[in-house]
Amino acid sequence: MNILENYDLTQLNTLGVSARAKYFVTLSDEAELPELFNSDHFTNNPKLFLGGGSNVLFTKDFDGIVIFNKLKGIEILKEDADSVHIRAMGGESWHDLVTFAVERGHWGIENLSLIPGTVGAAPMQNIGAYGAEIKDVLLNVEAYSTNDGIKKVFKKEECAFGYRDSVFKNKLKDKYFISAITLKLGKTENKNLEYKVLTEHIKKNKIEVKSSKDISEAVVAIRKSKLPDPAVIGNAGSFFKNVFLEKNVALEFLSKYPDAPHFEEDGFTKIPAAWLIEQCGPIDGKSWKGYKLGNAGVHERQALVLVNHGNATGREIVDLANKIIKSVEEKFGLTLVPEVNLI
Ligand SMILES: Cc1cc2nc3c(=O)[nH]c(=O)nc-3n(C[C@H](O)[C@H](O)[C@H](O)COP(=O)(O)OP(=O)(O)OC[C@H]3O[C@@H](n4cnc5c(N)ncnc54)[C@H](O)[C@@H]3O)c2cc1C
Repeated sequence: MNILENYDLTQLNTLGVSARAKYFVTLSDEAELPELFNSDHFTNNPKLFLGGGSNVLFTKDFDGIVIFNKLKGIEILKEDADSVHIRAMGGESWHDLVTFAVERGHWGIENLSLIPGTVGAAPMQNIGAYGAEIKDVLLNVEAYSTNDGIKKVFKKEECAFGYRDSVFKNKLKDKYFISAITLKLGKTENKNLEYKVLTEHIKKNKIEVKSSKDISEAVVAIRKSKLPDPAVIGNAGSFFKNVFLEKNVALEFLSKYPDAPHFEEDGFTKIPAAWLIEQCGPIDGKSWKGYKLGNAGVHERQALVLVNHGNATGREIVDLANKIIKSVEEKFGLTLVPEVNLI
């Protein structure tokens, strides 16, 4: 185990923000965990587990130890005629796991294709896209306590999954390292084509959906056409969460803003954060879209995506995010919450 000092993290976060870690270690073997957990570097310092860095914003240097998760491996635990249990190590790429599944004709995670990042981070915010969430297929999460190094298997019910949320992002924040997950996927056709953008794409392109791979390819095509590639321009996907309103609050809101797009989900009314941001703008009345604050900016086509135009500091991006939050609060009385983890 090689613990490095004063390590540059610029290439390890998709926003491409410059930051350094006091200590940095790459974890590629689960057997190294006891040694790591017993080391002074680990016990005496704040810890940050890092996967693909696609959902973090470094606001300053990290004065602790960054553990870069490279635990690899995907295995089939059991299968029958209807389903298969797949265990994947936390350092695997999420999309590689999706590819593994759809290549074998399994159903359940095809709608989550091309979400950047690692398997280990996926339960953290219960990744979701195109009408699916990881919680729909997750059986359990294997995680090590950072207090005593003991491994616990969290059943799905213990993970308190919600919209872009889990127990690991809340009550147990920084208390567990997710080493592996197990999913239960279907072996028989189970199309999830509820999501309008996806159904429209399939119809428009006359795609005959015969397999989960067909859906995966459609999702990949949509995402490539819509979302900025972090390799081209630094970003962390949606910077803010959508807003969920209780029924009576939603009714009042919609009576004031009848044009607001809204969707009923799990007993709440979802108002897209992108729409709220699009209705506001900086002081001169221009739209937030394409707005620049120093080297930070709002993407030209995606109001929800904050970008790094080159050498943006974490502070600049936070300042821009705060201006957007304030403008939405002033206009609508609703408070946007970042989806990205501020470090
Ligand atoms: C272009 C783009 C599109 C995106 N689209 C979506 C989308 O459609 N849906 C969606 O849900 N998300 C989306 N995201 C966000 C992001 O891809 C996901 O949140 C992803 O799961 C983050 O994985 P990561 O490995 O990069 O996590 P990181 O950014 O490395 O970490 C995120 C958080 O999880 C913690 N963490 C990471 N690994 C572990 C671990 N093993 N144990 C404990 N804690 C850990 C970190 O400390 C940090 O707090 C998008 C991001 C980008 C850049």
